[in-house]
Amino acid sequence: MEYSHIIVRYGELTLKSGNRNEFLKKLTKNIKLNLKEYKGYHIQTKRDRMYINLDSNQYINEILSKLKIIPGIHTFSPVLKSKLDVEDAKLNISKLLDTKLDKNYTFKIQTKRPNKNFKYNTNELNNIFGGYVLSKYKNLSVNVKKPDFIVNVEVRSEGIFIFTDFIKGVGGFPVNTSSKALLLLSGGIDSPVAAHMLQVKGVEVDMLHFQSPPFTSEDALEKIFSLAKQLSKVIGTVRVNVVNFTKLQTEIVKRIPSNYTMTSTRRFMLKIAEEIAMKEDCLALATGESLGQVASQTLESMHCINNVTTLPVLRPLLTMDKVDIIKIATQIGTYEISNLPFEDCCTIFTPKAPKTKPKLEKILEYENRDDYSDLLLETVNSVKTYLINKDSVILLTSENEEKSEEDDFSTLL
Ligand code: ATP
Ligand code: MG
Repeated sequence: MEYSHIIVRYGELTLKSGNRNEFLKKLTKNIKLNLKEYKGYHIQTKRDRMYINLDSNQYINEILSKLKIIPGIHTFSPVLKSKLDVEDAKLNISKLLDTKLDKNYTFKIQTKRPNKNFKYNTNELNNIFGGYVLSKYKNLSVNVKKPDFIVNVEVRSEGIFIFTDFIKGVGGFPVNTSSKALLLLSGGIDSPVAAHMLQVKGVEVDMLHFQSPPFTSEDALEKIFSLAKQLSKVIGTVRVNVVNFTKLQTEIVKRIPSNYTMTSTRRFMLKIAEEIAMKEDCLALATGESLGQVASQTLESMHCINNVTTLPVLRPLLTMDKVDIIKIATQIGTYEISNLPFEDCCTIFTPKAPKTKPKLEKILEYENRDDYSDLLLETVNSVKTYLINKDSVILLTSENEEKSEEDDFSTLL
């Protein structure tokens, strides 16, 4: 059996009806980007849904699994389209049900009729199709309350659509329809998932990574690029800023009592992030922190860390369990990359006994003993910005910066 179309439903997107056109354009573009490698389909975008017309079913599984991760898609269904004709619809129903001959099933017919001009009403259609199925398939019986599957019949002006499955998409909004946040990206499991969660809500996520060479290796930076490549797949391009944290981090470890170095390191990270966020026009910072996941991720710790910035610090994973975070990481293809062994700067400098409930007065007292302003400036100025898509990593220089702002990545290649 071959499906003729995939219906894509927008869900949440319809809430923001003022921006609907912009959203639909972006969603269509993202879907095309994600399905680029598969031939044999074309897209029709309508106000309330989208049709992906399939010339063949050769890549249908690949296409369905791509649709699962594209922000802005609420549900989708592979369907068989019939003419506006009951006999033709019966033919397609039987194509679907011929795949369900292996055992006894219960079913129900659920008809929707947005096309009010059609000559039968919903009840009549339920009866016509229900009677047809019962007479043709001896292994099927009706259960209206809890059927094994539902045969959905949608009568619209374009035709009659028949399908059994509503597949859940990731929901949210098409990416980059909201404003920008700067996410602190480590090589761990959590921060790439945090980036994804924000992207799903339409936030444009720029990234910032702290490296401490020679304590962190070239491979560790390559790992960051691989994560960014993976995160760019759904949306096209991401910007990754990398700062050299070695000097500042070494000084922190030297000067701050060891149980407070973790807190102080995080505070300096956020200070630097704030500076870079201003330059990049980001309205918020974001991290992959999750409450209580490690000893340093307590409210006391977050209280001390947040104190250095007036920007909101978004923590999309705050209340999530690690197993659920890992599930998402696996689905978006970052889990395997995150599991590569290369250490990042925080792991290397982790003190033996970090303070789990740091006190703000203490950390201020320790940090005020020295003047870090020059080091801070030097670190901020060490920033290198990369433009990353699924195939390439390009270091932005003053010459190619302008071009990138025109969002014309291809001219840089
Ligand atoms: P992750 O899996 O994201 O590394 P984690 O549970 O290992 O998180 P930490 O290492 O304590 O937690 O880091 C907490 C957050 O701090 C990270 O989610 C990330 O946002 C940020 N972070 C940590 N190390 C770095 C780094 N080297 N560069 C940029 N951000 C970092
Ligand atoms: Mg980490």
